[in-house]
Amino acid sequence: MRDEEKLSNPQVTIQTIQKYGFKFQKRYGQNFLIDGHVIRKILRAADITEADTVVEIGPGIGTLTQYLAEAAGHVYAVEIDENLLPILADTLGSYENVEIIHNDILKCDLKQLLGEGKTCKIVANLPYYITTPIIMGLLEGQVPAESITVMVQKEVAERMAAGPGSKIYGALSLAVQYYSDTYLAANVPPNCFMPRPAVGSAVIRLTRREEPPVSVRDDAWMFRLIRASFNERRKTLVNGLRNEPALGITKERAEEALQQMGLPLTVRGETLSLQQFAELSDLLP
Ligand code: SAM
Repeated sequence: MRDEEKLSNPQVTIQTIQKYGFKFQKRYGQNFLIDGHVIRKILRAADITEADTVVEIGPGIGTLTQYLAEAAGHVYAVEIDENLLPILADTLGSYENVEIIHNDILKCDLKQLLGEGKTCKIVANLPYYITTPIIMGLLEGQVPAESITVMVQKEVAERMAAGPGSKIYGALSLAVQYYSDTYLAANVPPNCFMPRPAVGSAVIRLTRREEPPVSVRDDAWMFRLIRASFNERRKTLVNGLRNEPALGITKERAEEALQQMGLPLTVRGETLSLQQFAELSDLLP
């Protein structure tokens, strides 16, 4: 399909929306791309070739999907909004390598969808209201994704790459950096979307690491400690851990561990590096 005929041409998007009387749903974070340059940047960052199987989260009316279909071997596109299904059947009808899955991505078993031993690349212009659960689910669940290239709110991309001591550093930063290498591929202004979002956006690629950067006995346990530490940011680390009864960590045990690490007892979670959380988690079995 020629680029002028694609949905990245704003006129084609407007015609398609009018043809189907489609109403944008804010609750689904529907801001559709209308800029072919941005879409090409996403494809380049994701490094898509014919050998790749791509999972797209939220195809919308199929704007990014049209480009993915032309670059990849196979595309699974998971969309929650049933009003978009007839539109997708129309805009993607000429591509034989695209499968639309009507589901909530948070409930979708991607391992089963892909089949035994198969891997994929995740590509998406994400619905911003559920960016964190989607990314955490992909990283922590055993989803066989080589890389995740996504449009997110600019501030969230910054949070993913933040280090200790910064106000925006948190559980998301630690999970992203434990599981992947991050690469900020582009900043994208609101005028590249219809309707325009109220915030700036960025394309970020997370490439799964072969080996985590720190060694820890039980990473699931470490992430439970991390989440508890950031639950109440104004509290000390000891109080954060103590206030999560399911962890079963007493004040005394938490203080003993901090002393062994040479840290003050009043330390806050937001100052600890990934390495320090790994040490703490090994000291608190
Ligand atoms: N990919 C399209 C584009 O770039 O123009 C649309 C992106 S729009 C920001 C996000 C899309 O995700 C919407 O189509 C929305 O309906 C869909 N969506 C929202 N929540 C979802 C969920 N839980 N599971 C699957 N899709 C979802």
